[in-house]
Amino acid sequence: MSTVNAIKVSSYDEEAVFEAVSRHFEALNVASELRPETRIVLKPNLLYGKKPSAGVTTNPAVLKAVIRWLKSHGFENIVVAESSGGIFTAEYMRGVYSASGLKVPGIEEYLNRDFTYGAKRTAEGFTVKSFNIITPILEADYIINLPKLKTHAMTTVSAGVKNLFGTIPGLQKPDMHRRYPKIDDFAHMLCELCETVRPNLTLLDAIDSMEGNGPGGGTVRHTGLTLCSKDVYALDVTAVRFMGLAPEDMPHLRAAGAMGLVPEEITVTGDAVTPCSPAFKLPDTVKSVGFDDAMPKFLRAPAEKVLDTLLRSYPKVDRAKCVGCGKCAESCPQKIIKIANGKAAMARKNCISCFCCQEMCRFHAISVKRGLRGL
Ligand code: SF4
Ligand code: SF4
Repeated sequence: MSTVNAIKVSSYDEEAVFEAVSRHFEALNVASELRPETRIVLKPNLLYGKKPSAGVTTNPAVLKAVIRWLKSHGFENIVVAESSGGIFTAEYMRGVYSASGLKVPGIEEYLNRDFTYGAKRTAEGFTVKSFNIITPILEADYIINLPKLKTHAMTTVSAGVKNLFGTIPGLQKPDMHRRYPKIDDFAHMLCELCETVRPNLTLLDAIDSMEGNGPGGGTVRHTGLTLCSKDVYALDVTAVRFMGLAPEDMPHLRAAGAMGLVPEEITVTGDAVTPCSPAFKLPDTVKSVGFDDAMPKFLRAPAEKVLDTLLRSYPKVDRAKCVGCGKCAESCPQKIIKIANGKAAMARKNCISCFCCQEMCRFHAISVKRGLRGL
């Protein structure tokens, strides 16, 4: 049985967020797991540098509140560490920190300045034998995972488990997409990564969330909630239900279930969590094609495969919005995006529909085109 604590918070008012963090950490008895010398790493979601009101990144008020709580309890060995989309260098991350509102007193003293990484072996029997992981995470005694609740073009939802993909250094992330182009394999890899990193605590920022074409180009939706748990899978199940969606429709939760990682029983303490109505809008990339019981079971899998091919989504550049920054090309695992005459252009052949390009385009210049629907 796992516990997820829920606290409603109506805004990013610093005192209100601090009170919520305090209530969470007291409810889960976090202080009992820490010592003054414990190396604590906070892992926010900083997909790319974007102002906090855009709903793309973990809000600075959450980071500030967690740091304030830790310091007030005598735990000062703190680092805020993340590897955003893009390269993992001091200069690039300085820009991300600054644009995301983290260069403020109470946070900036704790921002990671070590941009090295190392390999960590996985458990026996895992598909991935070892992951390259950023050094602060490798050296941490206690990891506090601080995701933002968002929809996601590839994984449908980004919450606790998906946030840990940002422990893989820089442009090695597209390489993982290349190695695991199918969503179910990618989702399984995410669970293996999660089991390798093993966050001690996850605190979800769902005060403002993102729906639609997340994780970068969706719409902000005020949802006024924070969730906290020592079990990241239980937290993700609770978050998905809160979005009005079904956990069994989420590739990473299906993979986690198959690996025996999803608890059978989840107790939600604190405030009541009622599913959002209407449910979160899904990304354009997520197909809503399924077969009911009218179709014989043995025909469903092949029929879904055919439809999957026919309805497969591809990225499409809106040339009017494209500024030719090249971020999409940098993050494309297949290296099929070229910048010509100041605009991006991609070859559909060899595209694995991972949507890293759309994810990294902060100008919202990449939309989704489906095989049949787009014709
Ligand atoms: S599509 Fe977006 S990321 Fe790619 S070059 Fe154009 S503006 Fe930049
Ligand atoms: S073009 Fe976009 S969707 Fe296709 S492989 Fe490259 S990054 Fe992925």
